[in-house]
Amino acid sequence: MNQVDLKTLAVELQSLGVRTVDERPREEVRSGGAGPSDAGFLWIDDTPLTVPVNGDYVGRSPYELVMHSSGRFGELTRNGEEVGRVRIHPRPKIYDLETEDGVPYWKIGLMHLDSLASTVMQHCVYWGTHEQCHFCAIGTTLLNGRTIAVKTPERLAEVAAAAKRLDGAKDVTLTTGSPNRVDRGADYMTRVAAAIREAADLPVQVQIEPPDDLGWFGRMKDAGVEALGLHLEVWDEEVLARVAPGKHAQGRDYYLTAWERAVDVFGPGQVSTYFILGLGEDKQSVLDGCRAAIDRGVYPFVVPLRPAPGAITQTATPPSVEYVREVYEAVAPLLADAKLMSQNARAGCVRCQACSALSTFEQAFGNERNNDPEPTPLVGPAAA
Ligand code: SF4
Repeated sequence: MNQVDLKTLAVELQSLGVRTVDERPREEVRSGGAGPSDAGFLWIDDTPLTVPVNGDYVGRSPYELVMHSSGRFGELTRNGEEVGRVRIHPRPKIYDLETEDGVPYWKIGLMHLDSLASTVMQHCVYWGTHEQCHFCAIGTTLLNGRTIAVKTPERLAEVAAAAKRLDGAKDVTLTTGSPNRVDRGADYMTRVAAAIREAADLPVQVQIEPPDDLGWFGRMKDAGVEALGLHLEVWDEEVLARVAPGKHAQGRDYYLTAWERAVDVFGPGQVSTYFILGLGEDKQSVLDGCRAAIDRGVYPFVVPLRPAPGAITQTATPPSVEYVREVYEAVAPLLADAKLMSQNARAGCVRCQACSALSTFEQAFGNERNNDPEPTPLVGPAAA
């Protein structure tokens, strides 16, 4: 890359997004879904990144990506000045397949680099109510016909086996809306994970709200789940009450209890929480939350807000690049001190890391992770 260090580039691209004329099939850009979304996948040198490509704010980004006709590479510019060549993740082979009854595989699961990801149940008890999480766009994907309402264990197992065989999937990341206020989907997610393990023998991360019975964690582990996401999203309780009222009603203290029980079952570094930057919190509260997580063996997956179309925050402004960078610079040494490095995660968002630039800051503290199957050195201007 020309005179732009990787950390700056990663933070700026993830916070500001990139403008692109995207002529690829629509399934290759993740739109909607639970939690942060609406991103494309790039490789910069040997670092994978998901980069926002939709949303009002992306139109104001100084970054532009001009795709090569091959679809494998693109020229990245910043304010019209050349930055260098980036590699576009190849179109997954499973996107050309469908089930016997005609459901395209891409409506069941999407490849996030080398991880198969799926929102198992599109329904969430909070969606469309005063308890809806402001940053979430789960209700939009079903409306625009990009997915199906519920993925069965059998269909997900079929797609996972194909993803492993054809696209080299290394793990499966399963998220969901909360279908009820009791087990929060734990029973169904456990059955899905068991089917995937049996058919594809891939490590599975499940992301749910904490169920009422924390004994579900042991049953999940017995079914083959290897990592768990319990996403509080915001540490500051006032901000949490405003932007994620449903989660606030469950209570931050319940999340702390659930984190501890989950780490007892899955081990340190295999349990994670998202913290989203740019929802009105201050930096100190983020660091307090990260410390609370790290002290309990939970990896804090810190990401900038992506104001996704369909979310309440869709017209919000993402956090400043300086703020995101300051947080990453403060959190990376805390992770290193606790030996909670992303390279040790067995499955899920922490293993992938493409949605957060935190791992590029971890590298300063000994994280040597590189999951690019075909590293391609990128050196300055590239041939057309
Ligand atoms: S709990 Fe919040 S983030 Fe998760 S699906 Fe429901 S509304 Fe979206």
